[in-house]
Amino acid sequence: MVFEEDFGTQRVDGLSQWIGDHPVLLINKACPTDRRRLTMAHELGHIVLHNGLATDDPEREANEFAAEFLMPSHVIKAELRSLTLGKLQDLKQVWGTSMQSLYERAYSLVKYIGKTLQSRGLSTQEIAEITGFDSSEDTNPFLPAPTHRHLSAV
Ligand SMILES: [Zn+2]
Repeated sequence: MVFEEDFGTQRVDGLSQWIGDHPVLLINKACPTDRRRLTMAHELGHIVLHNGLATDDPEREANEFAAEFLMPSHVIKAELRSLTLGKLQDLKQVWGTSMQSLYERAYSLVKYIGKTLQSRGLSTQEIAEITGFDSSEDTNPFLPAPTHRHLSAV
């Protein structure tokens, strides 16, 4: 069950909880339209992954679930190459997610590829040549760093 409620704040986009046998998602009315799908997928991640289970980092896990659920890496990876603001605007229409979530997805996939190559013994220089991104820096290769936002609370 999904309900839209006025949370009285813009700091939290969504909440979720099992009530008996029913998963319940609450979405803040103040949540911008282009973040709603990601917020709902994030809360779905909590419902699926954290039903009474304590994990090290449930927010990160729910974010990763939501990103993979809405933007599967094997499908979207090729579309995130050579990003520009114009391309992000086009991809937003295709994928139904915000430009920020698209570029965060690109950032996390490039970082993942960089770490994988690093674990296989490639140098920082070699990784930069392959990905076009200096993995020694914790910066996005495409755009300025995003402002931090908390998608939801559980
Ligand atoms: Zn959460």
